[in-house]
Amino acid sequence: MKIILATSNLDKVREFKRILKDFDVDINPAPYSVEVAETGRDFIENAILKARAYYREFKVPVLSDDSGLEVDVLGKAPGIFSARFSEDGSYKSNIERLLAQIRDLQEEKLRARFVCAVCLIDEKDIIHVTQETCEGYIIKEIRGDSGFGYDPIFYYPEFGRTFGEILSEEKDRVSHRGKALRKLFSAILLGV
Ligand code: IMP
Repeated sequence: MKIILATSNLDKVREFKRILKDFDVDINPAPYSVEVAETGRDFIENAILKARAYYREFKVPVLSDDSGLEVDVLGKAPGIFSARFSEDGSYKSNIERLLAQIRDLQEEKLRARFVCAVCLIDEKDIIHVTQETCEGYIIKEIRGDSGFGYDPIFYYPEFGRTFGEILSEEKDRVSHRGKALRKLFSAILLGV
């Protein structure tokens, strides 16, 4: 199946391609990006909004994702606002704002999770959606420089390292995006 991606985030594109390399799908960036107002109340609504906007524009199968980080002690913020958490929205400023908000907290373990909703609109205009999470902790220092976004402050207990300190293949195996994409395409292509 030939599919375009409803995102201009190159870090996400890289992950999509890596995760889906074992599936019989031809993933391509969209010819140009489409402005989408992310007005949904949750990740799934936003993923559907993005996929619908790209499908309307290009009229071919579209795959979108809406993802973010929920920190329990912050009432699940930044959540769906993860990309726009700081004023300039850069990964660095977003992390700085988050670290500033937790700096003085006494909690030993700051439980958090990444969430990813993925949405595929297929050639028959049918919408398929999955959502998965990846549980871990936020640490108060930046560790590692692989991955993107909040990866260097997201500690994954099973690995004993942050997502900034692990190989991309390790992240894909356990990540919110890896699990959501595999679930979606296993169901559509393999019927499992
Ligand atoms: P979206 O483009 O609205 O889905 O924004 C997602 C934002 O959540 C990204 O810009 C990152 O800041 C954060 N995020 C989502 N997935 C990940 C991940 O796998 N690692 C680190 N940060 C992520």
